[in-house]
Amino acid sequence: MNLILIGPQGSGKGTQAKLLSQFLKIPALSMGQLYRREILHQTAIGKIAAPYVAAGKLVPDEITGKLLKKELRSKRYKKGVIFDGFPRTYKQNMFLEDLLKIDSVILIDIRRKAILKRLSGRYICDCGQTYNLYSQESEKPKYYMICDKCGHKLKQRQDDTPKAIRQRLKIYRENTKPLFAYYKKQKKLITISGEQRIEKIFRAILLALKYKGTIS
Ligand code: ADP
Ligand code: ZN
Repeated sequence: MNLILIGPQGSGKGTQAKLLSQFLKIPALSMGQLYRREILHQTAIGKIAAPYVAAGKLVPDEITGKLLKKELRSKRYKKGVIFDGFPRTYKQNMFLEDLLKIDSVILIDIRRKAILKRLSGRYICDCGQTYNLYSQESEKPKYYMICDKCGHKLKQRQDDTPKAIRQRLKIYRENTKPLFAYYKKQKKLITISGEQRIEKIFRAILLALKYKGTIS
């Protein structure tokens, strides 16, 4: 099964991607996380991507396509993949359709006001875990500013600055939102409110994916 999770910054799609991945036993692929890893390790792709990511701009489609293709070569995706943060442009979507068949697209929606608050509370660890200091739920670190998983100090994402956030929301509005109509036409779009508890959103997604029998 191949799924796409789509939604504005801070909608919680990364969190849902992780939950779905555990439940369906299909790996999640976060494009942003792939880029952050390339940048951390100062690879050739990382060096090209760094200024775009820092400014909250999309890395050019050719490079994103290349990175995606390289990642999808891994055997771990042979049963399927849950895309988080890909595709974000019409071109990326066409590229993806040439590679594999998408079963459903899950749109997690949230209002702009909620977005800004969430992003300002978001912290990450180099190990890939993400946290939210304002969250009432599992996203809050057990100890202030320390990663639950590895004990390292949490950092704010370099692109969670007001300027880069504005830029990312603009790109979302202009480039990613137009894809909704396309998925809707294909009858693949599932829309769920991201302004509910994590657990509730997750259940709503499972229900929509027709896993009715397996949740209590
Ligand atoms: P967010 O969804 O909050 O913007 P991500 O972690 O998904 O955060 O992405 C962070 C950054 O990584 C983006 O602002 C962009 O620079 C780069 N990136 C991620 N996905 C893509 C993509 N599909 N195409 C181009 N650039 C991307
Ligand atoms: Zn960590």
